[in-house]
Amino acid sequence: MTSPISTECQDNVLVITSDNPPVNALGQAVRQGIADGIQKARDDDSIEAVVIRCDGQTFFAGADITEFGKPPKAPSLPEVCDLIEASEKPVVAAIHGTALGGGCEIALACHYRIAVPPAKIGLPEVKLGLIPGAAGTQRLPRLVGAEAALPIVATGIPIDTKKAESIGLIDKIIGETSLEKDAVTFAKTKIGQPLPRASQGSANEDGVKNPDIFDKFRANNGRKLRGFDAPNAGIEAVKAAGEMSFADGVKKERELFTKLMTGTQSAAMRHYFFAERAANKIDDVPADTPLIPINKVGIIGAGTMGGGIAMNFLSAGIEIVILEMKQEALDRGMAVMRKNYENTAKRGRMTAEQVEAAMGLLTGTLEYDDLADCDLVIEAVYENMEVKKEVFAKLDSVVKLGAILASNTSYLNIDEIATATERPGYVLGLHFFSPANVMKLLEIVRGEKTRHDVLATAMKLAKKIGKVAAVSGVCPGFIGNRMLSPRQQQANQLIMEGANYWDIDDVLLEFGFPMGPFQMGDLAGIDIGWHRDPSKVTTVREALCAAGRFGQKAGKGFYDYDERRNRTPSDEVKKIISDFAEKEGKKQRDIPKEEIKQRLLYPMVNEGAKILEEKMAQRASDIDVVWINGYGWPLYTGGPMFWADSVGLDTVVAGLEKHNLPVSDYLSKKAAAGEKFTR
Ligand code: NAD
Repeated sequence: MTSPISTECQDNVLVITSDNPPVNALGQAVRQGIADGIQKARDDDSIEAVVIRCDGQTFFAGADITEFGKPPKAPSLPEVCDLIEASEKPVVAAIHGTALGGGCEIALACHYRIAVPPAKIGLPEVKLGLIPGAAGTQRLPRLVGAEAALPIVATGIPIDTKKAESIGLIDKIIGETSLEKDAVTFAKTKIGQPLPRASQGSANEDGVKNPDIFDKFRANNGRKLRGFDAPNAGIEAVKAAGEMSFADGVKKERELFTKLMTGTQSAAMRHYFFAERAANKIDDVPADTPLIPINKVGIIGAGTMGGGIAMNFLSAGIEIVILEMKQEALDRGMAVMRKNYENTAKRGRMTAEQVEAAMGLLTGTLEYDDLADCDLVIEAVYENMEVKKEVFAKLDSVVKLGAILASNTSYLNIDEIATATERPGYVLGLHFFSPANVMKLLEIVRGEKTRHDVLATAMKLAKKIGKVAAVSGVCPGFIGNRMLSPRQQQANQLIMEGANYWDIDDVLLEFGFPMGPFQMGDLAGIDIGWHRDPSKVTTVREALCAAGRFGQKAGKGFYDYDERRNRTPSDEVKKIISDFAEKEGKKQRDIPKEEIKQRLLYPMVNEGAKILEEKMAQRASDIDVVWINGYGWPLYTGGPMFWADSVGLDTVVAGLEKHNLPVSDYLSKKAAAGEKFTR
């Protein structure tokens, strides 16, 4: 096998080049090639300096993730890094694209780093539930200081070259088209000079002099990092870099790394990494399916969803025509979009020009004829089959043939909606989540007749507007809302049986969800869909509305809220619930949190099993993608199906049986056979 690494002498400089597409991952052959190159430079007296660079799109963009969990193959990345740093001849990393993870660690081991302006550099290991394992947490703080190293290690967000240069991570930013030449020239200037080695740097003293920086960092990032083990391990490792010798720090990093690598969070996050990629593939739709060009998109309805959906396309530079029934509704919808953009600009995440550019692509209309030349139209009107069918029939009569007609329905049958048209092959569901300009998930609902090119185009479009897509078959609520139903049903039942509603929210919060169902109700508004007659009270929600407890906006809903929106459980609500239970003849009892957890989550797994059995999801991991991106299921558990596998399917079945909850055949067979949904 030919090596992905080649070497070439340019005068007295040895250029080590990696060509390992697509991202120059640091697999064994690459590591061996680099080690051989460094060795060659050491043995050859005519060589006085070394440049390490990559062909293709990027500098080394990380470890070879397929090697994870397998026996290590020499030379290891830490060995290669040590070898580079130990060189007596200057070694220069010439960076383009992204120097990530192991790639960043290689760069740190080099004596100098130069980069082209658009390059990015970072240690994203935390995103896989890990920390760097080749002394990255030890070299980086010694080079740039603990304070600058902390966000890089603990958030995993890469930094640009300007920032990297300002903290001393990069020595020089050079011409975009002359990287190799400039690197060789730069290397020559370093011949004979004392070599700076990151492991011997002293910038990490800032963390010793001012140890508050670690607590401050934790406090500032608490919400983002909540529940994740790896960022904390990263902080610990950076702290250790200030307190220990390099050798001991490396040992500490290794201990922390090994613990994470063998733990459940990293396994879950690696599962998710592959799950997201797998969800992009539709098994029976060939990768080379021709795509339908989408240059202009129509949206029907400028309400909560229509406006949010439109913003996705505007931000991606795609022209939008948005249609409403009345001018006031149109004006209101468009004003909300502008306000949202302006708020983003106020927070510094957009420029005023970008706001105008996005809004400049937007046209409002009351006439269906204005949608005639759209390539895609997304309907986001009221959740009512008759209304939707009427809209689709109109669209069918005016929108050009070959255009895609999509519905954002949450629950309704896409196949039935498609019957309102003469082109059911061009109809599908594009189910966005609220707020649609923020939430990552796009459930793509495949109708019975949806064409391959329509599906392939939708998948591609999802990527273009920055969404994570997963395909669902047609069933009530599709994948996500279908699984939400049994959880909501249990939550409602549990409070009737005596569970504290705040315990239900807390159980889900402790599990890692951003909020529980009652907090969610308060946030969305308890009065959504309320008949507005306080004398008619047949449900707990109606009783809350009758008492003026409309949710956060009224300062009280299930909870009482203070001016900072902190919640406290309400005696009034507890009484409303217990009165209802009494009326229904339900006996109230104390319900432990463990029972609450099992009754909320196990039925979701059971529903997921049914979804798989009915082939409404292509694979269990797609369900995980839906729940992590659309409903805040904690990433570090891998999603509901991976989580069920970790708990053990037999345990899930036993729990369901214990609480007299239904167990699907598919789940019970899998559990009996000792099988898993994923892996
Ligand atoms: P909404 O009430 O905020 O907006 C609906 C808009 O559609 C209104 O502005 C209304 O004037 C307009 N409209 C109604 N009939 C119309 C017609 N015939 N022609 C043109 N405009 C018309 O509702 P929403 O929350 O945006 O929901 C829209 C759709 O999205 C529903 O199918 C809903 O199930 C789905 N959805 C909602 C959410 C959510 O969280 N709100 C999430 C996912 C999907």
